[in-house]
Amino acid sequence: AAAGAALDRLTRVQADFPIPGVLFRDLTPVLADRDALAALAHALAGAQPDIDLVAGLESRGFLLAAAVAMVLDTGVLAVRKPGKLPGDILSEEYALEYGSARLEIHPHDVPDRARVLVVDDVLATGGTAGAACRLVRRAGGIPAGVAVAVELTAFPGRRALGDVPVLALRSWA
Ligand code: IMP
Repeated sequence: AAAGAALDRLTRVQADFPIPGVLFRDLTPVLADRDALAALAHALAGAQPDIDLVAGLESRGFLLAAAVAMVLDTGVLAVRKPGKLPGDILSEEYALEYGSARLEIHPHDVPDRARVLVVDDVLATGGTAGAACRLVRRAGGIPAGVAVAVELTAFPGRRALGDVPVLALRSWA
């Protein structure tokens, strides 16, 4: 309840960002608020039981994932944009409205059968979180859930994630 109220109070809505026609929800004021960040971290940490590892999606997901991992006493899996991780990587492509994008992980950071909670700030089409879940599976882990601060209900994000359970602290049109 505290986390949802903090999101309502502190999220900035920015029209025409990053491109004309997009209504961007800016959660940086939420992250900057001590009580709001703690409330978010605790609420997201309760998404699923028995989590072994928290996956953070570059870039804004990193900030939340580390806070959630501290609550759950787990480590963080960095799910990164292409070309940032050295050495052995797994890579997954996903569709954008125009074109495609990629995410990468270090598979050796995922213990075998680890239950991984995928954390991000906003869920829209589910393309980003879906790619993260596929990476976790390919690395031998189990995508136990997706936990986001906000889901945008204009997009089919939940449907795109199949049977991976989704916790969203707020659902906005
Ligand atoms: P999806 O892949 O379409 O679900 O988009 C989700 C990704 O885009 C997440 O990594 C979000 O950080 C980012 N995103 C999409 N819309 C917004 C927004 O309104 N505010 C902040 N991030 C957004």
